[in-house]
Amino acid sequence: MTGRTHDLAAFTALNYIFVTQPLIHTSLATAFVAVGANLIGGLTPDIDQPTADLWNRLPAGSIIGRILSPILGSHRMISHSILGTLFFAFVSRFILEHVKSILIVDMNVVWFGFMIGFLSHLVMDLFTKEGIPLFFPIPIKIGFPPLHFLRLQTGGIGEKSIIFPGLMVFNGYLIYQHYHKYLEFLKMYIK
Ligand SMILES: [Zn+2]
Repeated sequence: MTGRTHDLAAFTALNYIFVTQPLIHTSLATAFVAVGANLIGGLTPDIDQPTADLWNRLPAGSIIGRILSPILGSHRMISHSILGTLFFAFVSRFILEHVKSILIVDMNVVWFGFMIGFLSHLVMDLFTKEGIPLFFPIPIKIGFPPLHFLRLQTGGIGEKSIIFPGLMVFNGYLIYQHYHKYLEFLKMYIK
């Protein structure tokens, strides 16, 4: 999947959790940072690729990417597995704990935003032809549907004409169905 689709998928997952879970009372700053963390989380599994979208968006990112990618193995290795998910869950938690003093936001919410984005990335990549090594280091790539020819090509017509518009429509549906929830959320800040 392309970075654009991963961004939208991460946001869609966050949006879905937002409307289906009880409303949390956070500061507006926390909400903004959480959305940012969510989008970063959605691109993080691809940091094993020196050309990853995440690197292009960071200053000196491509240099860091080139250094990190051989460490993480070739593309779609540990960062696309359960083991990698646990690793990034701990690392991100550790980083957030340390920036807590300079960034006054609710780090639990930010961390959840990040992890929702991260997990959405793995779910999306499951639908691609390459699949993902979910049970790394066991060298088996898992994909859905199991029949290879039914899966999507990254950046292909299926992704552009079905997945991306499908996610847009789904977000529209969520907003339409739960608009009161967004209003309730906004009301906490407009007083
Ligand atoms: Zn990926």
